[in-house]
Amino acid sequence: MVEVEALTKRYGTLEVLKGVNARFEPGRVTAVVGPNASGKTTLMKSILGLVVPDGGRIRVGGEEALGNPAVRARIGYMPQDPRFPENVTVGEVIRWIQELRGERGKGLDALLDLFALRPALNQPTRVLSGGTRQKLSALLAFLFDPPVLILDEPTAGLDPLASSRFKDLVAAARDGGKTIIMTSHVMSELEELADRVLFLLEGSVIFFGAVEELRARTGEARLERAVARLMEGA
Ligand code: ADP
Repeated sequence: MVEVEALTKRYGTLEVLKGVNARFEPGRVTAVVGPNASGKTTLMKSILGLVVPDGGRIRVGGEEALGNPAVRARIGYMPQDPRFPENVTVGEVIRWIQELRGERGKGLDALLDLFALRPALNQPTRVLSGGTRQKLSALLAFLFDPPVLILDEPTAGLDPLASSRFKDLVAAARDGGKTIIMTSHVMSELEELADRVLFLLEGSVIFFGAVEELRARTGEARLERAVARLMEGA
C-alpha cells in the first residue's frame, strides 16, 4: 500500500503537484495518466524519495516515507530512461546490486531466462540496445521481490516478445498482491493491466478510481477514448 496525502511540489514559481491525494492498493495496478508535464514523474519520484516534496505525506506499507530512505528498499523502480555505469558489464551491475542488498534476489535465473539476458551478461552496458537496457532495468526492479513496483513507461523499447513477457510478469505480481504504479503512453497496454486510473492534469488529480468507473463516467468503453474525454472535459 502506498498512500499520498496533500502532496505539493514546486520548482520556482511552477506548481508541479498541487495537493495530490491517492491510495495505491495492494493487488492493483494503478495507471498514472495525463498529458506531458502534468506531474506524473514528479509524483513517482516523490514516492521513491528522489524528489523532495514541499508539503504533504507519503506512506509506504504504513511507514512514513519522507526522510526515511529505508523505505526505498521496498520499492522496485523502472525509470523511463534507465542508465547504468558505462564500462561495467550486465553481470557486474547485477552483482553490485546484489552486494549492496546483501542478497542474491528471488528468481534471478528465471528473470535472466524470461528476458533472454544471459547472452548479455558479459557485455558492457554502453553497447546495449535501448530494449536490452530496459530488460536489465525490469530484472533489477523485480529481482528482490519488492511489495511495491513503480514502472515509468516500462515497455518503451521492448520487442513484442519481451513486452508480452513483461506484461505477464506484471499481471502475476498484481495477482500476488503487489502494489503497482505504472505509466505508459500505450493505452492498450494499460487497458490490459490497469485496475485503477489516476489522471493528473497540471499537478491536480482530475480522476482517481476504477477503470470501470472511468468508463461509466465518460460513456467510453475504450480506455484511450475515456482518457481523451477526460482531457477534453478538463
Ligand atoms: P510528466 O511526467 O507528467 O511529463 P513531470 O513530473 O516530469 O511531468 O514534470 C512536471 C513539470 O515539472 C514539467 O513542467 C517539468 O518541466 C517540471 N520539472 C520537472 N522536474 C523539474 C526540475 N528538476 N526542475 C524544474 N522543473 C522541473
